Amino acid sequence: MEKRIIPISLPSMGQEEWEALKEPIFSGWITQGPKVKEFEELFAKRHNVKHALAVSNCTTALHLALVALDVKAGDEVLVPAFTWVSTANAVMYCGATPIFVDVDPVTFNINTDSILAKITDKTKAIIPVHLFGLCADIDVIKQIAPQLKIVEDGACAAGAALNGQPAGSLGDIGCFSFHPRKSVTTGEGGMLTTNDDALAERLNMLRNHGASISEEQRHKGPKPYILPEFDMVGYNYRMTDLQGALGVIQLQKLDQFIEEREGWANYYHQELGKIDWLRVPRYSDKYKHGWQSYVLFVDESKSPLKRNDLMEYLQQHGISTRPGTHAVHMLGFYKNTFNIDEQDYPGAYQCNEYSMSIPLHNKMTELDYQYIVEILKQIK
Ligand SMILES: *Cc1c(COP(=O)(O)O)cnc(C)c1O
Repeated sequence: MEKRIIPISLPSMGQEEWEALKEPIFSGWITQGPKVKEFEELFAKRHNVKHALAVSNCTTALHLALVALDVKAGDEVLVPAFTWVSTANAVMYCGATPIFVDVDPVTFNINTDSILAKITDKTKAIIPVHLFGLCADIDVIKQIAPQLKIVEDGACAAGAALNGQPAGSLGDIGCFSFHPRKSVTTGEGGMLTTNDDALAERLNMLRNHGASISEEQRHKGPKPYILPEFDMVGYNYRMTDLQGALGVIQLQKLDQFIEEREGWANYYHQELGKIDWLRVPRYSDKYKHGWQSYVLFVDESKSPLKRNDLMEYLQQHGISTRPGTHAVHMLGFYKNTFNIDEQDYPGAYQCNEYSMSIPLHNKMTELDYQYIVEILKQIK
């Protein structure tokens, strides 16, 4: 078979995104303004929430969500041990303590059976992560810990749902990412969602230096020369209107992107499910998967190659892979600061060592998918 080069991910952008950039460029309004607003309205509608507020990325979204919920020094926040590092970093930014909870190696998401034992009288919030586009069991979490505030880390979960309810509408605040590796992209970018009017107002001020009204409102209002009030310490976490313009176009393609990836995910299940040393993603039909990435679990007790040797082999054949993500409790800062042993979270440890993400994105062709399946099937 002829060698193909297949990157792990590629943004799907073209002429429409290029055209969309002209409007902010020629209007002169290039930071948070009308295009950001349009993107927010579309995003809120698609995710069935009252408010969507765009920010600079998902890490700043997570930070603002915790600040808006008044998380501060002395508080504890529950975080899954297998996620991107920024879920835990956002808790550190507030001076609070991230308390890791183990994950289920089958779904890669927070193990709801491990939550109760981690709750103390300092626990203020929980950040369930919808990893790789599969929603965490928020319905179960609400039953176990109704007293906790829920911040959804939906970085990978635009367009995903649980029991028909979209990600971002399941907890108190939802956070999304538009990094190029996510389902839709604006280069960098993030979104906050909430149904709570008071939280939305706080988030709106916090992202814009703590200003009581936005620049756009001020410039278009009757007294643009009067600066707003600043009653809180805010941040500059705004999204630009260039990104907003890209977001409007990308969001219109979200469902088509997911549908296409879902079709190829089903092809992978069917073909790779026959390989006894690979475990394909498993989840019940209460979930609508967003397919941000396709992550396999390598059973090294049966596989001819160890996970890292397999990734090397595939790399040599032109196929990019990555571990699904990393176990945060095993990263230097967290391991050393909180004196954690890697086996304290055995589920997260397993995911760290044995997960493998293979290419699944909207720039791939039928031949790419067939090539990946053939190469994997040839390994004996
Ligand atoms: C990508 C990602 C983030 C960070 O998103 P940025 O927009 O890059 O800041 C946070 N959490 C998870 C689970 C992610 O996958």
